[in-house]
Amino acid sequence: MRRVTSDHTDDLSPATLVVAAGRPERVQGAPVNPPVELSSTFVSQGVPTAGEPLYGRIDAATWHPFEEALGTLEGSTHPALVFGSGMAAIAAALSLVPPGGRLVLPRHAYQVTLGFARDLQERLGVHVTVVDIDDTAAVVAALTEPRTASLLWVETPTNPMLEVADLPALVEAAHAVGALVGVDNTFATPLVQRPFDHGADVVVHSVTKYLAGHTDVVLGAALADDPDLHARLHAYRTLHGSIAGPFEVWLALRGLRTLALRVERAQANAAELARRLSEHPSVAEVRHPSLPSDPGHERAARLMRGFGAIIGLRPHGGPEAADAVVAALRLWVPATSLGGVESTLERRRRFATESLTVPEDLLRMSVGIEEVEDLWKDLAQALDAL
Ligand SMILES: *Cc1c(COP(=O)(O)O)cnc(C)c1O
Repeated sequence: MRRVTSDHTDDLSPATLVVAAGRPERVQGAPVNPPVELSSTFVSQGVPTAGEPLYGRIDAATWHPFEEALGTLEGSTHPALVFGSGMAAIAAALSLVPPGGRLVLPRHAYQVTLGFARDLQERLGVHVTVVDIDDTAAVVAALTEPRTASLLWVETPTNPMLEVADLPALVEAAHAVGALVGVDNTFATPLVQRPFDHGADVVVHSVTKYLAGHTDVVLGAALADDPDLHARLHAYRTLHGSIAGPFEVWLALRGLRTLALRVERAQANAAELARRLSEHPSVAEVRHPSLPSDPGHERAARLMRGFGAIIGLRPHGGPEAADAVVAALRLWVPATSLGGVESTLERRRRFATESLTVPEDLLRMSVGIEEVEDLWKDLAQALDAL
């Protein structure tokens, strides 16, 4: 297999790695950026040698630079595996639960992840238990009762409630009963949290969000440190054909180059907006782990490098007031999804499928990289009008 070399990346900081990793080999005349290779098949005859390029569903050279870079950023010994979407990567990871096995996952996991778990329950008799991921004692108890879990799924912070899990404690408890731990690291990105450092077995990303970062691509990735788990995820991707197109992966690598700058700016904006929102008279509740009063603050300060850039906001006046805020905004874009350069927001319960324990008036705000004063002015005028 033609691997893209990432020279001298061992001792580099993450903010440098996003720029330096996954570059073509440094030889005279080589391009600085990897090319997009558009070919579904490759010249080949006789018995193929291991890793030889054969067919575009099995492997594609354009995936490698991004896979290498993300693998390095997450601190994995293997490259990441790109998938056609975050859900395709999550489907591969959750399929590690055998038929009749047991899956424990957060009640405020990404709603489509919860939908996939219900599908596994109906089709394959997988026993599904939903837990409060920030209640460590309850999660630990659920790992063995009523039967031992095969996989503990963790999102931290959760989407959209921003609960922060005690990841090291959960990994230790899960491994003690022989359960695997998978972490959806979409909200944090590897710059803010590296689940493998805490012993996680599988990490997934909706690359659609921060990693690509420009709201122009749908893509996913899964990672595993263990060679057997990595091989199983790889086999799943090939068998199910849940692959990514070369252009999408190339765009994601282009987006990744600015990840450190974007995350730094978005987190700073989010912390400042959360602080101002918490003092606004029209605001009933703000959730952001940067706030000292936030239930997730202590854990986030201990386990994460930063507090993320998603805010949960509940204005006074119920869902109607929340909808009025969305309608009154001029700069913030009303849209689902998150992690782009532009600030977006939505009332999550506008979806009938959203978890009923998510408050009806909760606005999930994805803070972008605009000038914070412009973001605040827009928010303040919308809240003042309530
Ligand atoms: C968006 C999202 C997903 C799904 O990813 P897609 O790329 O939309 O398939 C999974 N997990 C989290 C936390 C997300 O925000």
